[in-house]
Amino acid sequence: RIEIHDVHKSFGGLEVLRGIDLTLEPGSVTAILGPSGSGKSTLLRTINYLEPLDRGIVAIDGEVIGYRRVGDVLHELPEREVLRQRTRVGMVFQSFHLFAHLTALQNVAEAPRRALGVPKADAIARARELLALVGLEEKAHAFPRQLSGGQQQRVAIARALALDPQVLLFDEPTSALDPELVEEVLAVIRGLATAGTTLVIVTHEISFARDVADRVVFMDGGVVVEEGPPSQVIDAPRHERTRSFLARVR
Ligand code: ATP
Ligand code: MG
Repeated sequence: RIEIHDVHKSFGGLEVLRGIDLTLEPGSVTAILGPSGSGKSTLLRTINYLEPLDRGIVAIDGEVIGYRRVGDVLHELPEREVLRQRTRVGMVFQSFHLFAHLTALQNVAEAPRRALGVPKADAIARARELLALVGLEEKAHAFPRQLSGGQQQRVAIARALALDPQVLLFDEPTSALDPELVEEVLAVIRGLATAGTTLVIVTHEISFARDVADRVVFMDGGVVVEEGPPSQVIDAPRHERTRSFLARVR
């Protein structure tokens, strides 16, 4: 269970996150919607601790990311410990960020070896399973430049899963793809949702969000304006800002 409590983040004088509270229950699928600049990517980056927080905490099963709790006092953890905690939160970006000089299989096997010290043979065996899960076992030895965008994104998903994260964060995973490649990536994400993986997905694919999400969060101006099941937030939004956003993206 992941708790995001009172998270604030500024860049220079610009307050991008202005007090975000969210709880992610195990197995839940949360879709985050909102206009450009509303803070969606920044929120994902703070959950993954790629961005230090100005205020607030992110806790996984009661363990505060970046800190050790002693009584009521939080002590900063050394970098090494933070890196280890971060392996519990997987992230898939809009542009796939694969290592260009490694094959699909090596891309997936690399992180568990490096971050968790998994033995090479085990990491490779698991990487093969994960490539099969995303439908790419026959591309194990291809380099990223030999793969389509949709295939590269599926490798990126397999790579994120290789660390056995408690939650997988997706930041607009299909927005860099040609329309005909979108569905193959959404199908993989849908499969993960069905299998009970805890997911957070920033997306502009409204009908996909309605299909897969248990909960939809609409953000604007660094706050959560409205959240609830898709039947409420997407089909019967209460707030004018949600309504006008949905009218624009549909
Ligand atoms: P989009 O839908 O366009 O991806 P978003 O909701 O993901 O938008 P963010 O990327 O979180 O928005 O950005 C929120 C605001 O924070 C923007 O005004 C952006 O310019 C600013 N911002 C984000 N990262 C930084 C940074 N590293 N330094 C300065 N400003 C930043
Ligand atoms: Mg973004």
